[in-house]
Amino acid sequence: MSADLPVDCHVHSEWSWDAPEGSVDGACDRAVAVGIPGVVFTDHADLTAWFMPEHLHARMPPHFTERLGDDGVVRPSELDVEGHVAAVAAARERYPQLVVRAGVEVSEPHWHPSAVERLVRRGRFDLVIGSVHAVEVDGTPQMIESLFARWDADEVLRTYLREVLALVTAPVEFDVLAHVDYPVRSWPAKADPFEVGRFEDGFLPVLGALAASGKALEINTKRPLDARILEWWREVDGPSVTFGSDAHDPSRVGQAFADVAEHARSLGYAPRDTGDTGDTGDTEESDGSVSLRWWLTG
Ligand SMILES: [Zn+2]
Ligand SMILES: [Zn+2]
Repeated sequence: MSADLPVDCHVHSEWSWDAPEGSVDGACDRAVAVGIPGVVFTDHADLTAWFMPEHLHARMPPHFTERLGDDGVVRPSELDVEGHVAAVAAARERYPQLVVRAGVEVSEPHWHPSAVERLVRRGRFDLVIGSVHAVEVDGTPQMIESLFARWDADEVLRTYLREVLALVTAPVEFDVLAHVDYPVRSWPAKADPFEVGRFEDGFLPVLGALAASGKALEINTKRPLDARILEWWREVDGPSVTFGSDAHDPSRVGQAFADVAEHARSLGYAPRDTGDTGDTGDTEESDGSVSLRWWLTG
């Protein structure tokens, strides 16, 4: 195991409704194979039901189709919190060489503050990821990527970043902001190519507010986070980062971690030394063994 690589803090298992190929054991095996020190299972608590435009129905995978109502709304299944937490605890016994933790990825937590509070109390998670996948259009939540068919691509990303700003400035509890560049994954080939500099005025307020809140920025490697965004995070003295593959099947666990870890290190982010439990009040490092977050040290 390489001490130089970070824990994968964003992995989905079979406990996520949208990860039929996910596997707790498979992800742990993969973590051992690729030499990362551990995995945090952040299965989905998708509290928002989304409207899915009809032209996309034919392209939806079966786990979406099964949850599509006659009203065109996809209703994600509720996370089995106790089942998820117990499965992760059992894996922790089977993989003593790894850090294995139970977390959760909560969708649009600022729209569902009391549900989030109940969920977090119930799960006692080691890490809560806050994410935005949807925005409200004409009073109806819609998945952000579904808007590319109707809107200018730049406007989709700008709308997304406004919603992320609403999340990071809301009084809602979470530890890490997930995939701040999420819509870029679905960037249309026929649009002007994505150029991060065009959106500095959208990203910077988000990063500034997130830094002020003391929360972490996730370096999501599904589509490796643009290097410039991490540099902006350093410029606003962003206090910490986490690394997340967002794997929905074990083969992607730890994907591209060597490259992004090196970049984070070059900007001054590093794991805390063994035994340092940190000063944020988080429980995430309570056993003092491995730092889930990398902290700004410079
Ligand atoms: Zn997500
Ligand atoms: Zn995810």
